Amino acid sequence: MTAPPTGQASRTMSGKSIVASQFERAANLINLEQYMRHVLMHPFREVQVEVPVRMDDGRIEVFTGYRIQHNGARGPCKGGIRYHPEADHDEVLGLAAIMTWKTALMDIPFGGAKGGVTVDPKKLSKLELERLTRRFTQRISIVLGPYRDIPAPDVNTNAQVMAWILDEYSSRHGYTPAAVTGKPISLGGSLGREEATGRGVMYVMTEYARDFGIPLRGGRVVIQGFGNVGGHLARLLQAEAGAKVVAVSDVSGGVANEHGLDVPALLAHTAAGKRVSEWPHGQPITNQQLWTVPCDWLVPAALGGVITKETNAHTVDCRVVVEGANEPTTPTADRILEERGIAVIPDFLANAGGVTVSYYEWAQNLQQYRWTHQQVNDELKATITKAYVGVRDLAKQKAVTFRTAAYAIALQRVAEAERLRGN
Ligand code: GLU
Repeated sequence: MTAPPTGQASRTMSGKSIVASQFERAANLINLEQYMRHVLMHPFREVQVEVPVRMDDGRIEVFTGYRIQHNGARGPCKGGIRYHPEADHDEVLGLAAIMTWKTALMDIPFGGAKGGVTVDPKKLSKLELERLTRRFTQRISIVLGPYRDIPAPDVNTNAQVMAWILDEYSSRHGYTPAAVTGKPISLGGSLGREEATGRGVMYVMTEYARDFGIPLRGGRVVIQGFGNVGGHLARLLQAEAGAKVVAVSDVSGGVANEHGLDVPALLAHTAAGKRVSEWPHGQPITNQQLWTVPCDWLVPAALGGVITKETNAHTVDCRVVVEGANEPTTPTADRILEERGIAVIPDFLANAGGVTVSYYEWAQNLQQYRWTHQQVNDELKATITKAYVGVRDLAKQKAVTFRTAAYAIALQRVAEAERLRGN
């Protein structure tokens, strides 16, 4: 995953307040009662832990970690774990809430959670990273479990990190593959899980393109971030949707080519440990310039808070913003885009492919049965398309944005589960 471009304006709102302000609009739309607003806005349970780690040089460094379970009315809590210097309490809380709306919108039987450790993993050796992961898992494992709370990868975590979590969890509770998703295939991971977020973004773009007449085949796409989401998305858009990826970036900067970048070659270049900005077959651009490259589709696919009033909301040159990352657009920027007639496909619809295939992985583990890659893709397409259609239809019927419609559907579902379970 890609960190925010250097020199960028710092985030003006925390993850928690971004989610709160968007929540309010949708809660009004469905006349949500006051006590339910309180229940749905506040987390069910928060765990904060100190994580001492023996560093390679013998010192002990102590990191702070969080696991926040936002809501579990519809099923076990579900959500990734991120390692990032800015992963603090408020950010993790906002992301946990988004997971509740994401699983509800996809109508998969989970609630929402998120975990994070405030750390720059690029400064750790692989062994330090392993020790950090094991210690963090030990400290939060009391609240985890296949029917309680199931972690997955997020920013700066991957299948290897999930394997360590599985190992730690299983050493206490016995072999439990369903306790974590996004695992390596050889440890019970699902085919298609790694590319699932990018693939889901492509399916949503395909539907939107057809409904709103924005070209995707031959259409111009700019992607910020070339990690797990952006990299797979670029590849799939070019190979399966026939789109032209005209610019991408990572933390080092970007590269543009108006005839379309050769994505497989660029992926081989970054897989060899080189930076996107060192790619010779295009024009080097800065992370700031990336936002102004003219395109049909602009996909922020790295960290949150990157489209802001102060930086680029007035200048992005696209027809649709597709939120591949979680919370990339601040509420003020969201309104500016709305005024400018630029549609936004919200994060918890656009990037829900990852958690959707996590659901299939969990189900396969519980069934002790493996699906084919094709089955996974077909199910993902059906699930995310159904969610998209629901959002599109409600947005039209109520004359609201996709984000407000998506929130309204998700809030309604979680509120119904809360009411039925009673308190
Ligand atoms: N971290 C991903 C997300 O934000 C995936 C979560 C999961 O699979 O549980 O949706």
